[in-house]
Amino acid sequence: MSVAENLKHVRQQILELEQRVNRTSGSVCLLAVSKTKPLADIEAAYAAGQRRFGENYVQEAVDKNESLSHLKDIEWHFIGPIQSNKSRQIAETMTWVHTIDREKIARRLSEQRPANLPPLNVLIQVNISGEVSKSGILLEQLDDMILLVKQLPNIKLRGLMAIPAPQTSETDQIQVYAPLYQAFKALQQQDCDIDTLSIGMSGDMAAAIASGSTMVRVGTAIFGARDYTS
Ligand SMILES: *Cc1c(COP(=O)(O)O)cnc(C)c1O
Repeated sequence: MSVAENLKHVRQQILELEQRVNRTSGSVCLLAVSKTKPLADIEAAYAAGQRRFGENYVQEAVDKNESLSHLKDIEWHFIGPIQSNKSRQIAETMTWVHTIDREKIARRLSEQRPANLPPLNVLIQVNISGEVSKSGILLEQLDDMILLVKQLPNIKLRGLMAIPAPQTSETDQIQVYAPLYQAFKALQQQDCDIDTLSIGMSGDMAAAIASGSTMVRVGTAIFGARDYTS
């Protein structure tokens, strides 16, 4: 199947999953995860109407951003781990960052965001799988991180993100997501600018959409399997 056909299929799946849990059509947006995939695949998705793309590796993200700079309304989301020596490149090129889990990185991104660009949209990454994952803060640390991020002038907090360990059933996956969804709702009650819960990948879209996801990050189901993965 072509990228355009896959995209159409994924959009249809999202629509059905929204309906299944009585959510408004269009309340879940689709981030196309194009890591390791060639420019031609991104261009094919763009031609099929896709505008938001997610990348995991800084150099690859920067290169693709530059090569496709003629596509003015394309929106780049950085969804990989961030080393502090790479934060400037991210601050200069991305529209969103999903993986804020350290104070140092949050501060650097705010300091390094160019003055001529709007604030960088950020999500705080939460670790909801305990020891399985090294990335993300614990839910207990969330309040402190929120206070910090809100003080920084050039990054704008939009919500939360997680990459949970895969579960064997949809029910189990929903259970893992539940505390994150509670935290997200509580945060939304305090702050009207919070609108994004970034959960759900090719393998767990149904559980994520049932758990309140507002942005699914889908790679494989759109672009096919990757040669190497992260
Ligand atoms: C690779 C990746 C995805 C996409 O995963 P698929 O299983 O290919 O849909 C989503 N989120 C993050 C953080 C990723 O690294």
